[in-house]
Amino acid sequence: MFSYRHAFHAGNHADVLKHLVLVAVLRYLTEKPVSLMAIDTHAGAGLYRLDSEWAQTSAEAAEGLQRLVTALPGLDQAPSPLLQDYLDLVAEFNPRGQWNRYPGSPFVINHLLREQDKIKLFELLPSDAKLLEQHVAQLEAGRRVAVLREDGFDGLKKFLPPPSRRGLVLLDPSYELKTDYARVAATIQDSLKRFPTGTYLVWYPVIGRPEAHDLPKRLRTLTQQAGKSWLHATLTVKSGKASTLPVSLQGDTKVQRPGLPASGIFLINPPYTLAKTLRPALEQLVQLLGQDRHAACLVEAGGH
Ligand code: SAM
Repeated sequence: MFSYRHAFHAGNHADVLKHLVLVAVLRYLTEKPVSLMAIDTHAGAGLYRLDSEWAQTSAEAAEGLQRLVTALPGLDQAPSPLLQDYLDLVAEFNPRGQWNRYPGSPFVINHLLREQDKIKLFELLPSDAKLLEQHVAQLEAGRRVAVLREDGFDGLKKFLPPPSRRGLVLLDPSYELKTDYARVAATIQDSLKRFPTGTYLVWYPVIGRPEAHDLPKRLRTLTQQAGKSWLHATLTVKSGKASTLPVSLQGDTKVQRPGLPASGIFLINPPYTLAKTLRPALEQLVQLLGQDRHAACLVEAGGH
């Protein structure tokens, strides 16, 4: 079974990138009153405590949300409207300014959707699915929000296309299994046949693994073959190279692994306004979260 628990990673720089983009996309999609279906194929537990033992073991939020909030007063301009929107949303979960609660994608989605919209949340890991069900129960959302203890790649098929023909699909696997990369690409290929006008948001880690490197290229090829528009963005906060540090005068050394240095998102049928709103937000994230000279961002788009 899986060893991945999102609680170790909640609020890290990858979550900041993914959830910032999610906010931008949902703001756009909810401008029209027609109902929308949001499907999160890999939902996680939904809500996280950043002061829990798990979160503190890896302290990844210290390089993400918590660093962002601490560094914000030093920013030379006001936060971009999108960055401010994201921060305001997370702040609503931290009403006393404590910044120790973090909304995962199900709660970011729920926060922005309306009465007429539907949310489908897939989570396969029984312990996280149970937590997700408990968190969702607090919303008293009735049939508007459904938790499905099923494989998200396969389960997605039954909801496409949604009845209103308006929908967002978030594909955010842990990539703990190498096969996740190929499954993401196959799922996108299949979904574009079932629901060609849907908006798709894929998150992936930027790491030295051929499958990770190839994924955005495969997605771009699939998107272009389907004649759809796309947007690709990455956020790098530090070098991905392991450093060898001398740890004693006897010349002992220890290899220090840097943790995730960067991540990316690939969108199909993104809002046409997204590149313009995302660029300034990501440039500010580089300033706020960048740890060394490798810190950078990229936004590229095509097909509009
Ligand atoms: N989307 C969440 C967020 O942004 O808050 C984080 C999700 S986490 C990166 C990936 C989740 O997918 C984990 O909770 C894992 O247990 C779950 N998972 C792994 N394989 C799955 C599958 N085939 N179907 C559904 N969930 C799966």
